[in-house]
Amino acid sequence: MTLHAREELIATARRMSELGLAPGTSGNVSVRTAQGFLVTPSGMSYDGLRGDDAVEVKADGTLRPGQRAPSTEWQLHRDILARRPDTHAIVHTHSMFCTTLSMLRRPIPAVHYTVVLAGTDEIPCADYATFGSPELAQSVVRALGAGLACLMANHGMVALGPTLPAALRLAAEVETLAAQYWHALQLGSPHILDRDELLRVRHRFASSWGQKKPGR
Ligand code: 13P
Ligand code: ZN
Repeated sequence: MTLHAREELIATARRMSELGLAPGTSGNVSVRTAQGFLVTPSGMSYDGLRGDDAVEVKADGTLRPGQRAPSTEWQLHRDILARRPDTHAIVHTHSMFCTTLSMLRRPIPAVHYTVVLAGTDEIPCADYATFGSPELAQSVVRALGAGLACLMANHGMVALGPTLPAALRLAAEVETLAAQYWHALQLGSPHILDRDELLRVRHRFASSWGQKKPGR
């Protein structure tokens, strides 16, 4: 296992905590490796984490002896990585507004165009199951489908990405969207963008948003 992968995993977990997305020791992060994946250790404060604390899990779920105990959600990370070859990194948070909405067990509809960043027309909410259970892992895999993010009933949210920075960026985007939706709900019934508009938004993101390569 490269030192770099361990350091990057822990740096992402610490950043998640610094951004306020994972109160206390909640949440966890993983990244795919050649043999399986690296995941954050269970129940440890993010401040003191070091590369050595990252836990190596083989694709069959076995651990190298002598390591920290892995996140209780290691099966969730394993099952998503097994089902989604496009995904190389996963961020799970208990961020305030995603978790608040998850308590109502309702998806986030297309109340803002940034919903398309999650790859779907609305961000679904996975059925409830006990934290750390294989049932929760399967419920999240089902809710995600081909999408990149979902809420988890009475628990939090999950965001996927091709890289650790991408997964963390999406977790922060979805939390912002959840906060905006929650605020709008205090005032009334927010308008929802229709499918045709979301198609235009996807096209706009793909064609003319951000910095394109020089010469393009
Ligand atoms: P771990 O510390 O075991 O990763 O648990 C945190 C969590 O968010 C469980 O759902
Ligand atoms: Zn959790």
